[in-house]
Amino acid sequence: MELCNIHEIKALLARHGFHFSKSLGQNFLIEDWVPRDIAVASRAGPGSGVLEIGPGIGPLTVELARRASRVAAVELDRDLLPILAETLSGFDNVTVIPGDVMKLDLPSLVAEQFSGLTPMVSANLPYNITTPVITLLLESGLFSTVTVMIQKEVAQRICAGPGSKDYGAFSVLCRYYAETQLLFEVPRECFLPAPKVTSAVVRLNPCPPPSEVRDKELFFRVVRGAFGLRRKTLLNALAAAFPLSKEILAGCIARAGLPSDIRGERLGIPEFALLAEEIGSVCE
Ligand code: SAM
Repeated sequence: MELCNIHEIKALLARHGFHFSKSLGQNFLIEDWVPRDIAVASRAGPGSGVLEIGPGIGPLTVELARRASRVAAVELDRDLLPILAETLSGFDNVTVIPGDVMKLDLPSLVAEQFSGLTPMVSANLPYNITTPVITLLLESGLFSTVTVMIQKEVAQRICAGPGSKDYGAFSVLCRYYAETQLLFEVPRECFLPAPKVTSAVVRLNPCPPPSEVRDKELFFRVVRGAFGLRRKTLLNALAAAFPLSKEILAGCIARAGLPSDIRGERLGIPEFALLAEEIGSVCE
């Protein structure tokens, strides 16, 4: 069956008595170029083991299964399991794993499902868990690439650089773990039901952490602090985040080679790393 044909989807869902859940971010694809292009962008091929999050009724799963050696698709909505058993019945390289991706033991899943393969992620993500799930995937260090469709504005935040209006703590986190690429946009009309916003596909290519960051925990504390009060200067934002006097923090900013009135959104990873070093030295 054509898994992106709106008439066939409606008939399939009606036959199974399925109802969409807004809280599970269920917007299913109804244009076949979208799952095809996501699968191609994921670079899934022979030797790949692909973790898909939220297969829905399986349009992307099928495109991935045609290309990769194995696909493990994690689906939280149990009502979709009988539908997936039907739509994926022609593929012997797909395992559907019922459950919440946020609660999975990812290292065990990868070891069990993708032994001898290159693990990667490909998904049309449920938008309500975009940020935590991308954080989890990057922090896991398990995947060679992470290619996901998400809200366009989050995609722009992920790929933004210092000084741009979209740049924030999440941009720094993603850039810390990976090279980021915004690949293409997907209009809202490509989904059933249509979401309120445009979507976009991003690819994150994990890379070694920046060598200039010596204390990761402190580095991210400084990043979160710097963006905590967005319209304030870096000094005021840090003063609200650290139990240090403004005089001491001003000294740290100066020794990191930064202007006294700079705002946090102008700092890249090297500058945050220098600043974290200075703050670390006065906290000791
Ligand atoms: N892949 C399908 C498509 O492109 O048509 C469906 C994508 S839909 C945006 C998101 C899917 O993620 C839904 O099937 C939803 O039930 C599932 N989902 C939501 N939260 C989840 C979670 N925490 N873990 C796993 N799957 C989840």
